[in-house]
Amino acid sequence: MLNIAKIRADFPILKRKINGKPLVYFDNAATGQKPQVVIDALDKYYKNTNANIHRGVHTLSQEATNAYEYSRETIKNHFNAKHSHEIIFTRGTTESINLVANGFSQLLQKGDEVIISQLEHHSNIIPWQLACEKSGAVLKIVPINKKGELLVESYEYLLSDKTKIVAINHISNTLGTINPIKKIIDKAHEYGAAVLIDGAQATPHLKVDVQALDCDFYCASAHKMYGPTGIGMLYGKEDWLNKLPPYQGGGEMIKEVTFEKTTYADLPFKFEAGTPNIAAGIAFSVAIDYLNNIGLENIASYENGLLKYATEQLVSIPHLTIIGTAKHKAAVVSFTVDGIHPFDIGSIIDKLGIAIRTGHHCTQPIMQFYNLSGTSRASFSFYNTKDEIDVFVDALKKALMMLL
Ligand SMILES: *Cc1c(COP(=O)(O)O)cnc(C)c1O
Repeated sequence: MLNIAKIRADFPILKRKINGKPLVYFDNAATGQKPQVVIDALDKYYKNTNANIHRGVHTLSQEATNAYEYSRETIKNHFNAKHSHEIIFTRGTTESINLVANGFSQLLQKGDEVIISQLEHHSNIIPWQLACEKSGAVLKIVPINKKGELLVESYEYLLSDKTKIVAINHISNTLGTINPIKKIIDKAHEYGAAVLIDGAQATPHLKVDVQALDCDFYCASAHKMYGPTGIGMLYGKEDWLNKLPPYQGGGEMIKEVTFEKTTYADLPFKFEAGTPNIAAGIAFSVAIDYLNNIGLENIASYENGLLKYATEQLVSIPHLTIIGTAKHKAAVVSFTVDGIHPFDIGSIIDKLGIAIRTGHHCTQPIMQFYNLSGTSRASFSFYNTKDEIDVFVDALKKALMMLL
């Protein structure tokens, strides 16, 4: 059992009032709030340690380097990577996917195939469209059923020797579907294709073991795991990271530079050009420690309770349809109400202190599948409560009375 009162006290922002009402924050799939330990880590770094990393001989630079590399080690342990140089710091999931897709744009040949799915976030679509445009490879899309589940048989049908990489999310940010990624990975490997998993939504809720999954790449954003914005990670198997060309050129990523020829630094630095967000990199592992102290299994089971409770409340509202009813689902509820624009719902309940997201959630192909312009989405975290869901459902009923 989680001590929710104690957990809530760790998050200063949860004490805020919005429009005179206590904040009910149900936009966790967009970004998580930050516990005091993460805020303190950022503050402490700038007050005590700030220096550029990896180059300096002076004490501050060494302390900053050690803290940054210690964080990489923590991330490596958390995701059970084999080597810490398989963890690349990036700005987040978007940059992690772009790094890999950009590399593949140089490895792919005309006629090769890349598989993504109907469920993807735009950041796991557009980088692959760009890579296919550059290389002449063909983009294939795994379809979904009405519940928002991937059609695994269609996926198996799409796979062939032409498939070079499969890029699929672990959990859909819009529908909450938890995808059978182990099966997807194993099937792709039968054809020698690499697999990238977009883990932006999974990492705040599930324990991920990249070696057990045997994925080739796994991407995450710290800010969705209650860490800072502007930092994330790419896990890549050593062999793949060695095969991929560098993403950006600049300081830090080289061994030797002359105007005739430049040689690149070893992993992970080959992919880490320029001065990174050092404070955020350090605070990322503080967020991971915070999550592990609560326990991801405890988090998942508590959030499932919230999902079940919210779903029961919402289905009893007339004219309301839940979009995304997969059997395996994380704590995200998207819904529409007949004849009402999601934006209007979002604006009215904001007046009552409630933060939900409305729109296409960076997943326009999902909206096209359901023939919708957008949905309203409530997404839950371990610091949310059933009382908050009651407040939300009451507010929603009030809003619908005004709008219907
Ligand atoms: C948020 C999200 C992204 C993009 O993450 P950024 O942190 O904005 O780079 C990608 N995929 C999914 C499934 C997401 O939820």
